Amino acid sequence: MKALNEMLVSLQNGEIVNKETVKVYERSLEKEGNTYILMVKVDGVKKLLAAGEGSLFDDLIGEKDDAGKICALSHENRLVLNRYLSYTKPQAFGTKTATFGLGDRLGIASPGHIKTIENHQAKPILAQQSIRELTLTNRTLSDLIDAATFATIQEGYKGGYGADGDHLKEEADIQKVLELGFSMLTLDCSDYIPTGLNELDDDALKEKFSHLDKTVQTHYTTNYANKSFEVNGEIITFSNEDVYRYALEYHEALKYMVYIYQTYIEKLDRPFDFEISIDETETITSPQAHFFVANELKNQGVSVTSLAPRFCGEFQKGIDYIGDLDQFEKELSEHARIAEHFGYKLSIHSGSDKFSVFPIIAKYTKGVVHVKTAGTNWLEAIRVIADKNPDLYRRMHQFALERFDDALAYYHITPDLDSIAPLDETPDEKLAAYMDKDASRQLFHVTYGFILTEEKDGKLIFTDELYETLTEHEDAYESALEQHIGKHLDLLSL
Ligand code: ZN
Repeated sequence: MKALNEMLVSLQNGEIVNKETVKVYERSLEKEGNTYILMVKVDGVKKLLAAGEGSLFDDLIGEKDDAGKICALSHENRLVLNRYLSYTKPQAFGTKTATFGLGDRLGIASPGHIKTIENHQAKPILAQQSIRELTLTNRTLSDLIDAATFATIQEGYKGGYGADGDHLKEEADIQKVLELGFSMLTLDCSDYIPTGLNELDDDALKEKFSHLDKTVQTHYTTNYANKSFEVNGEIITFSNEDVYRYALEYHEALKYMVYIYQTYIEKLDRPFDFEISIDETETITSPQAHFFVANELKNQGVSVTSLAPRFCGEFQKGIDYIGDLDQFEKELSEHARIAEHFGYKLSIHSGSDKFSVFPIIAKYTKGVVHVKTAGTNWLEAIRVIADKNPDLYRRMHQFALERFDDALAYYHITPDLDSIAPLDETPDEKLAAYMDKDASRQLFHVTYGFILTEEKDGKLIFTDELYETLTEHEDAYESALEQHIGKHLDLLSL
């Protein structure tokens, strides 16, 4: 292509020329050794131009031109970039730096996320999808780092980002993310936390506790029963019944945490962020239970970067906090104190759109926090679709309503679907406003997997058109993200 050839000729001297048919991402211009690279978009497809000479130039795989190479944003080229430009690789941030998880279901939100967060103190965890989300969207763990790497190039962003193996339960998945160079693991211990304990009275708890191994019983009773602990000026005390309950609830989970830490995390020869999640459980994590788990981890030599309790109230996907704000403030302050005492970050899961509690979180965590969001950027994508491609929006909305019941198998949400305004009475210019309403937000939040993978005659029904629309209107998508994610960061004082 002539335009690209002319651009490569200039790029040999590190110069950018603008061509009508080519979109240039000016911030992507980079020099490594004697190689220049530049990201462009032609006919809706992003490419990397490489000119000059040297090993980066030689290693990039692409179509050769007299003046350079035109390279695809492929997995192979991502690996090459990771080797030469260290800021394109995921990195750990430790216990003192605030981090913000930005799960990106479509793999195209990271440039907007970077623009939003680069002027804030929090560092972005750009790659973060649970296995559930990967399965529902037909993506792989490796795809996540590909997308994040190219986003750092596109934005010329050198501030560092993390990659989180989110809510992993299985050892095989943990091994996989470590091999792939992820910088963070969120260990989901919910499979090891029994259900039904809430229904047991004190006698039943005691009875059940007496079936644990004798040494295990002694360990917990000696260390906790009728003992008090000081946590930054507050006293936490355990009765016998507390000990029975927490031992039954967390003993197996603690064994698993220690096992994973000793087998994998401790042996790593690079900095790594290790998060413990006990949030996807039946029971709300009381501050006392949080202390119990944290203290056991410390005594067993496990260092964690962050820990996610299950907070009181409800953190439903895509909408604001549901619950008693005073109670939340009281417990959050205690959780934050415990995290500070043990020297890790408090982690807030399903953190998207929880605007009413962000100021409380900011007040008590004082910037030592990890907040996970996932999928709220997908809703911003839907907002752009509603605005720019009403016809596609209408088809997706109708389909989402049809598949909503199936999606409930994966998510706990309680929207009132009857409150959603009928589609046939809503004019095109009002479609985007669906993304301002809780019920329609949740409708789309949970049906993404069905929407993105639905096929007819071997063809994806919505996905290709959805990507086309978002690619064509990438500036609109970026501004939507800057506004929406920016509001999160502002209210969290991050
Ligand atoms: Zn979680």
